[in-house]
Amino acid sequence: MVQKISRRIFHSLTSAFFPNRCLACDRLYHLPFSFSEQSGNNLPQDLTAAFTDFTKKFVCASCAPNFSIVESPICIMCGMMFVSREGDDHLCGRCQKTPKHFTTARAAVVYDNLVMNAILKLKYQGRIRLAKPLGIFLLFAFLHYFSEQDLDIIIPVPLYPGKLKQRGFNQVFLMIQDWKKQLPENGYGFPFTIHKTILQKNKNTSAQTGLHKDQRIKNVKNSFHIENQSDISGKNVLLVDDVYTTGSTVNECAKTLIKGGARRVDVLTLARTI
Ligand SMILES: [Zn+2]
Ligand SMILES: [Zn+2]
Repeated sequence: MVQKISRRIFHSLTSAFFPNRCLACDRLYHLPFSFSEQSGNNLPQDLTAAFTDFTKKFVCASCAPNFSIVESPICIMCGMMFVSREGDDHLCGRCQKTPKHFTTARAAVVYDNLVMNAILKLKYQGRIRLAKPLGIFLLFAFLHYFSEQDLDIIIPVPLYPGKLKQRGFNQVFLMIQDWKKQLPENGYGFPFTIHKTILQKNKNTSAQTGLHKDQRIKNVKNSFHIENQSDISGKNVLLVDDVYTTGSTVNECAKTLIKGGARRVDVLTLARTI
């Protein structure tokens, strides 16, 4: 007990001397002194309160409410938020007509200007330090929607090799690479592997931005392949990407993985358009 309290005092003192930088407003701030710091294993029931608590080391108290969390009612397959904020989760009309190759897709936050700016800074201005806080958003959604027990492999959606060389990093892999440390820190296990080379992109597709749904589907068609089928045969896979717009990219990846023998594919994205 004494040790626990000393550790908390130490953390609070560390926070006083080394302030945190807010992902959204870029300002330095101090965490409030607290004796009752809780781990993610005891997330508050209210989703907004849980999100604010979980991300407090990276988002200041005044910016936290500016993020819109994806909340029920949503489509049980593609995760789309329904316009009506009443009723239970159910299958949306699109998924009813054309079921996806993945089982479920879930996202942490709504893709608005705030989130878009952070992702653009990371991807195109090389602000790599933003990967960790964005990874915490992803981790929050992961803990809320998925069970680490049911997964075998986590795969970040790959970039075309030429693009990877040009950018120097896969932004999604950067976001999730610390989960190995963060999940045990939050009281969870890490019984899976993060694999960034099983799924490969073999076509240098043009950017999906500005394309209509049908064009997006055509653009990414047959643009992925699996390096070694035995690695995914019979496995439960979680595909991770930054933004879910129409879902064409992750659906094409899921199609490739299922064809290659994966048992089940689920999708987790940082943000989702509404
Ligand atoms: Zn802030
Ligand atoms: Zn749907």
